[in-house]
Amino acid sequence: MDHAPTTLIENDLAHLIHPQHNRQMHLDYGPLIIVEGHGATLTDINGKRYVDALAGLWNVYVGYGREELAEAAAAQMKQLAYFSAYVGISNIPVIELAAKLAEMAPTNLNAVYFTTAGAESNESAIKTARFYWKQKGYADKTRIISRQFAYHGVTSLAGQATGMPAFWKGFEPHPPGFIHVVAPYPYRFPENLLHGRGVGEAAADAIEQAIVAEGPDQVAAVIGEPIMGAGGVIVPPDDYWPRVRAICDKYDVLLIADEVICGFGRTGSMWGLEGYGVQPDLMTFAKGVTSGYVPLGGVMMNDEIAGVINGLPKPSQWMHAATYSGHPTACAVALKNLEILERDGLYERAKVMGTKLQANVQALADHPLVGDVRGKGFIAGVELVSEKSTKAPGSPEGKLAARVRDVAQGKGVIIRAVRDILCFAPPFVTTDEEMEQLFSVVKESLDVVAEEVLATAQQK
Ligand code: PLP
Repeated sequence: MDHAPTTLIENDLAHLIHPQHNRQMHLDYGPLIIVEGHGATLTDINGKRYVDALAGLWNVYVGYGREELAEAAAAQMKQLAYFSAYVGISNIPVIELAAKLAEMAPTNLNAVYFTTAGAESNESAIKTARFYWKQKGYADKTRIISRQFAYHGVTSLAGQATGMPAFWKGFEPHPPGFIHVVAPYPYRFPENLLHGRGVGEAAADAIEQAIVAEGPDQVAAVIGEPIMGAGGVIVPPDDYWPRVRAICDKYDVLLIADEVICGFGRTGSMWGLEGYGVQPDLMTFAKGVTSGYVPLGGVMMNDEIAGVINGLPKPSQWMHAATYSGHPTACAVALKNLEILERDGLYERAKVMGTKLQANVQALADHPLVGDVRGKGFIAGVELVSEKSTKAPGSPEGKLAARVRDVAQGKGVIIRAVRDILCFAPPFVTTDEEMEQLFSVVKESLDVVAEEVLATAQQK
């Protein structure tokens, strides 16, 4: 096939439907064709290099171009690329990975079901919560409480747990039984919901109110990302998760932690919830486990839930499945990736670079376009506003961040913009030089956009 950029783009436009597809947006943005990556730096088809501020889509922890991971995949493929891991059958990498994860996970989580992605993991967790309650004799305990701005993926149930209506539109009918409550979003928490409480307390109490309103015997689980990512890097106050845990215990409701982007050291502890001293009942993971080299995710279950599933008398089965659950090659790559994270001290490095990341975003706080800066560990968000005092976003919302993203891309930095928030979650191997380049470009790009905004205002 002809690899000339123009031919590739012609074929892309003719044959591809991309995630979040819009043809014009695809053309406006690029399309950017990335051909190579090393560490935290990517190269496009024209030879232009970029620092990657979001580690792909929050996932490439060990950086691009790791030959060891390619070798681990090749060795496993040569020996046994694939065989089913359906009941009755197993393989060596899946057994080893399950044992490794049980060792790494919070103490009460010792069993895992493997998937291929984040959404599939959350889908599996929601189904498992419902299945568990049915086995316990609570057939109606099915409803799921989620939060506004949550992102849990876009398959049917996970997509409905996602708390951003834009992801639901046009795909009706919506699966029933999902309730979204206010997010622990300090910068934009509605004043009228505080009633003298702090944001963490008020946001957790909103979950209690929803459980009481639905009836505790109707509610299966609360699902949440320890720190919301795709909703705009929303970091809850420290008292939020312990209070949510206590509420779940009070009403016998399961807590599902979506650790898809927080897990494996991203937020300064191995698991996002661990950073708040909280253990979930079900825990989903995906991105960091393979650093994006192969698709793999999973749901970990506490001993009580795993015990119920393990205790099913024949012929009852937990009839959830996927062809690629426990894929030997994917598991072999995950094992090698976890070995690299440990061996190369990358969990520690994420903490060190995290301190630098937080200092860099804090330094932007006084910029006229910046309303809020926030983060924890090696994840951060910079929320842009058109007016600091009113916190008004760009008009339309998202315009400011998208423009900064585009200017930064021209200057060799790839950032993700959601609503009017610039998101940062770089590879753990990002160097000091790459970090410096990233933030000098972000600062320059903010200045360019601030000048454009001023010029437009003066024309009016
Ligand atoms: N959960 C969280 C917290 C995520 O950030 C994402 C994706 O970004 C998902 C779930 C969905 O993962 P996937 O796109 O692999 O289905």
